[in-house]
Amino acid sequence: MGEEADYLESQSDDGAYEHIYWADIESTRKLREEKRAFKLAVKSEVAKELKRHGVELKKNKPRGKMLERTCHCGCGVKFKAREADVKRGWGKFSSKSCAAKFKDRITNGAYRDRYGS
Ligand SMILES: [Zn+2]
Repeated sequence: MGEEADYLESQSDDGAYEHIYWADIESTRKLREEKRAFKLAVKSEVAKELKRHGVELKKNKPRGKMLERTCHCGCGVKFKAREADVKRGWGKFSSKSCAAKFKDRITNGAYRDRYGS
């Protein structure tokens, strides 16, 4: 029974053969994973330290002032919208489904008003 090679033979552009060892591939992969885990650990450690010192880390801090809005569809849901969005005419609905509901009511309502039933 032939022994399974513990390396890949690869030819580089200049024609030279080189052996890539499975063990090296494995350890490179492990190293990458360790690096990532380490980065995550550092990140969470830093966040913990900052929190301990009263520094609040804000995720996806919204740019600009937020305005309290009530959903335009009539469901009564209160939500916050960016002032800049409101100025652009956005931020009317608390969710996409509310916007769809409202739009549907408007179009169907207009149709009923014009053609009945
Ligand atoms: Zn709504």
